[in-house]
Amino acid sequence: MLAVPAPAAARLLADVAPAAAGAYGEVELASMAVVSLALPAGTELPDASGVLVGATEHTAAGGRFTAKAFTFSARKWPHQAPVGDGPVLLRGSVGRFGDTTALRATDEELVRRVRADLAELTGITADPVDVAVQRWGGGLPQYGVGHAERVARIERAVVGLPGLAVAGATLHGVGIPACIGTADAAARRVATQVTVGP
Ligand SMILES: Cc1cc2nc3c(=O)[nH]c(=O)nc-3n(C[C@H](O)[C@H](O)[C@H](O)COP(=O)(O)OP(=O)(O)OC[C@H]3O[C@@H](n4cnc5c(N)ncnc54)[C@H](O)[C@@H]3O)c2cc1C
Repeated sequence: MLAVPAPAAARLLADVAPAAAGAYGEVELASMAVVSLALPAGTELPDASGVLVGATEHTAAGGRFTAKAFTFSARKWPHQAPVGDGPVLLRGSVGRFGDTTALRATDEELVRRVRADLAELTGITADPVDVAVQRWGGGLPQYGVGHAERVARIERAVVGLPGLAVAGATLHGVGIPACIGTADAAARRVATQVTVGP
């Protein structure tokens, strides 16, 4: 069962399923970074789960925002709500498909820029008690025009090869529930082939 990013699947399938490898190779990917901030206890977040920043939005000074979204984690998920005098958690997302400019910044610079965006959008200027930057190179497959047909080509090529199955974000949705769905179907298919035969 291959549950790997599209470029890896393309390489791994090149000999056994060239049609699938070709279709995987056509899938474009977006890279991003997540800047997580732990703010001092008591920091007030806006009464929302987060904010999305449109690609054409600009700062008051006329520049571009570095962050494309903020998730107010402490508000969005009960398990990330502050406990006692624990920190208030939020995260900024950086990186748009086809535009890696912001991702070339160092971690330190990313944190500085994301904090500046946060201050402009929400007025929050508190110094974080902790920060973490996690980069996701090629982390999000893009479902361009013709994606459904590409996926059909992958599945047609693989279905004829007993013992091989594919799953993951390239196929029928990038969200975790969709990935679980493809993994479940792939596992059932391989299990059936092992127990009943192709
Ligand atoms: C920053 C970010 C935030 C997200 N937030 C959400 C969210 O809030 N909710 C949601 O539903 N979804 C979210 N997603 C989407 C979702 O997390 C992913 O689409 C999903 O986890 C992808 O699962 P996957 O199993 O297809 O791939 P991955 O989880 O990327 O796993 C691929 C695996 O393949 C391995 N691998 C790579 N090359 C090879 C190789 N040659 N041989 C063997 N192994 C290899 C990698 O090491 C990795 O372990 C988010 C994605 C990102 C990047």
